[in-house]
Amino acid sequence: MPALSPLNPPIRTLLGPGPSDIHPRVLAAMARPTVGHLDPYYLQLMDRLQDGLRQLFRTTNRMTFAVSGTGSAGMEAAVVNLVEPGDPVVVCVNGVFGARMCDVAERAGAKVTRLERPWGEVFAVDEIRNVAAAVKPKLVGIVMAETSTGAYQPIEPIAQAVHEAGAMILVDTVTALGGVPVEVDAWGLDAVYSGTQKCLSCPPGLAPVSFNERAMDAVKNRKHKVQSWYLDASMLASYWGSDRVYHHTAPINMSYALYEAVSIILEEGLDACFARHDLNHRALKAGLAALGIQCAAQEGFQLPMLNAVRVPAGVDEAKIRSELLARFGIEIGAGLGAFKGKVWRIGLMGYGARPANVYLLLAALEQLLAEQGRPFDRGASVAAAGEVYSAK
Ligand SMILES: *Cc1c(COP(=O)(O)O)cnc(C)c1O
Repeated sequence: MPALSPLNPPIRTLLGPGPSDIHPRVLAAMARPTVGHLDPYYLQLMDRLQDGLRQLFRTTNRMTFAVSGTGSAGMEAAVVNLVEPGDPVVVCVNGVFGARMCDVAERAGAKVTRLERPWGEVFAVDEIRNVAAAVKPKLVGIVMAETSTGAYQPIEPIAQAVHEAGAMILVDTVTALGGVPVEVDAWGLDAVYSGTQKCLSCPPGLAPVSFNERAMDAVKNRKHKVQSWYLDASMLASYWGSDRVYHHTAPINMSYALYEAVSIILEEGLDACFARHDLNHRALKAGLAALGIQCAAQEGFQLPMLNAVRVPAGVDEAKIRSELLARFGIEIGAGLGAFKGKVWRIGLMGYGARPANVYLLLAALEQLLAEQGRPFDRGASVAAAGEVYSAK
C-alpha cells in the first residue's frame, strides 16, 4: 500500500471572511493531551469555558455553551429548538447569512416571512416594527455582522421593537463576537450563536451559543420533539448542566482551543479588543482609499472586522486574489451572490487585526494593482495607513 504524501500545509496570512489566522497559543492548546469527556478535569474546564463565553456575550444566561459544529450548526441549533412546525417567523435578509437562516427556518417547518434589504444596507427599526405587527411572529432572526457585505446592523433598538411585538429575537453574532460589542443581557437578546473561526481566531469547529430563560421556556413548552437529536438543547443542557448526562462525545481538543482563545480575549480586555479592531479597520480603509478602493457597505454601518470593498473598474479581481495567494501567501475573499465579481472581502479578525497585516496587504495590493496599470502614487496607501496609526 502506498503511503499518503506528507502533510505540509502552506503558511498563509488569512485575511478573508474566515477562517482567520489562528493565534499560536490556540494551536499549542490543541496539542495538549486529550482527556475523557467525563473526566473531572474536562468537566471543570467546561464550567470555566461557559463562564468565559458568558463574559464574551456579556450575559448571565445559564444556557451558554458551545455546540459541536461550525457557526451554521449554531444557527441550526437556535432555529430548530425555538421553532416548531407552523410557527410564524420573520427573517431579515440583506446578504448570504440571512438567506441561510430563512432556509434553515423553512426546513424546520416555520412559516417564514422574508424581510429584504439590498446587499450592503441595514434594517431600520420601523420596517421591523411594521412587519412584526403584521405577522405576529414567534421569532425574528437577524444577522448582526453580515460577512457577505461588510454591513454592521445595530441590534439594540430592533430587539426592543421585536419584544414590543411579543416575539423573541435571534441574533447571528458569528462574525460580530470578539470584534464589536455584543450585549446579550443589556439588549435583551433571547438567543444568539457564533462561531470560532472569525474574531475568536480559533479553528472552525465549535459554535458558542446562549439562550435566555424565555428561550429555554419556549424549548421546554414545545408540542413537538426537536427534530434534530444532535442539537436538542434540553438534552445538551443535561450534559452542560450539573447532571453531566452523556449525550455525544465532546470535541475535547477543540474545547481546549476555544478555552485558550477566550482567555486571550479576556486578558486583552473586551474594550481594548474592540478598539484594536476599529483602529486597524480605519488604517486599512485609509490605505485602500489611497488606491481608489471604497467600502461596499452603507457609510456609518461598516464592520471593522470585515471590509467588503469595491473592485476598481478594469481590474481583474480574480487574478489579484490568486496572485496575492501565490506570490504573497495572503488570502482575501471573493464576493458572494449579488457581490460576486464586484467586491473583495478583507478580514481583519481577532489575532489578524494588527498593523503588520494591514501594511502587508496594502503593499502587496499596491504592487499587483500597479502591474495591472492602475494609476496612483506609489507608497501612498501605506503612508495613509501610517497616518491613522500615528494619529491614534
Ligand atoms: C461564517 C458565518 C456563518 C456560518 O458559519 P460556518 O462556520 O461557516 O458554518 C454564519 N453567519 C455569519 C454571519 C458568518 O459570517
